[in-house]
Amino acid sequence: MATDGNSRVHLPVLEGNTAEPPRRRHPPWIKATLPTKPAYFELRAMVKELQLHTVCESASCPNIGECWTRRALTIMILGDICTRSCRFCDVTTGRPLPPDPDEPRRVAEMLGRLQLEHTVITCVDRDDLPDFGAAHWAETIRRVKEACPAMTLEVLVGDFKGNTDHADVVLDADPDVFAHNLETVPRLSRQVRVQASYPRSYKILEHARRRGAVTKTGLMLGLGETRDEVVAVLHELAGLGVEIVTLGQYLAPSKQHLPLDRYVHPDEFADLEQVARDAGIVHVVSGPLVRSSYHADGQAALVRSLRKR
Ligand code: SF4
Repeated sequence: MATDGNSRVHLPVLEGNTAEPPRRRHPPWIKATLPTKPAYFELRAMVKELQLHTVCESASCPNIGECWTRRALTIMILGDICTRSCRFCDVTTGRPLPPDPDEPRRVAEMLGRLQLEHTVITCVDRDDLPDFGAAHWAETIRRVKEACPAMTLEVLVGDFKGNTDHADVVLDADPDVFAHNLETVPRLSRQVRVQASYPRSYKILEHARRRGAVTKTGLMLGLGETRDEVVAVLHELAGLGVEIVTLGQYLAPSKQHLPLDRYVHPDEFADLEQVARDAGIVHVVSGPLVRSSYHADGQAALVRSLRKR
């Protein structure tokens, strides 16, 4: 999916959720909440009615039971087929359909009905489009802001192949948070995010920051990275001025995806959270089940205060 790591999709599944689940059992700190509450089923029905896609479903996110019960979801625009083939991601790779011009309206209708305080929208990567989907993004942001003027809106975007003119089309629509995920450390980037590059991702984040946007990124741990490598990235991100960082455990969606190197203990997540804060990153969410959109719905006040600065 669009994740050039934009994980946007970062959410591989728990054991038992795929046709060929990994044999390894998850440690006790990785537990999914089963979706049983009416709110979950109501949200699912609404997504279906409005013919929308969510990364929660497409990436088989283990948090879907918990998040959707709170009506927190991450809508995925520009279709559900990605032109990239990141090896951690469960979104289908292939040749996508042309963008649906009615999709921005339906996204706005969905969010208008939900009356959320904050939401995250992401997309599949659209390297087949001349602007990589930037105009469709801008239209979606405009429609959503019209429908939900009080809501803060976070967009989790691709790297636009490093083209800052296309990133500017999205930034001009004035999202409240501009997020782009690095997914892993530089040494593993080529292996994990096959078509992406670290310099390109840094360029897009730095450009957004220079334009005054609130910026956010996320990394998955457990892919073979060392603590020193993660610490180095956190310091670089602080240097770029990135304000929000998420750190979560990688879980292989299937045997065909990149294998898990190791489970990272919650204490290590806590340690890295402190490292990131000490480096100067304003808001850090770090833990085994953290995904770039996990509990983002509670960040409206933070985002407003960051925007004022
Ligand atoms: S963590 Fe994000 S992708 Fe996963 S269910 Fe929650 S909102 Fe959806």
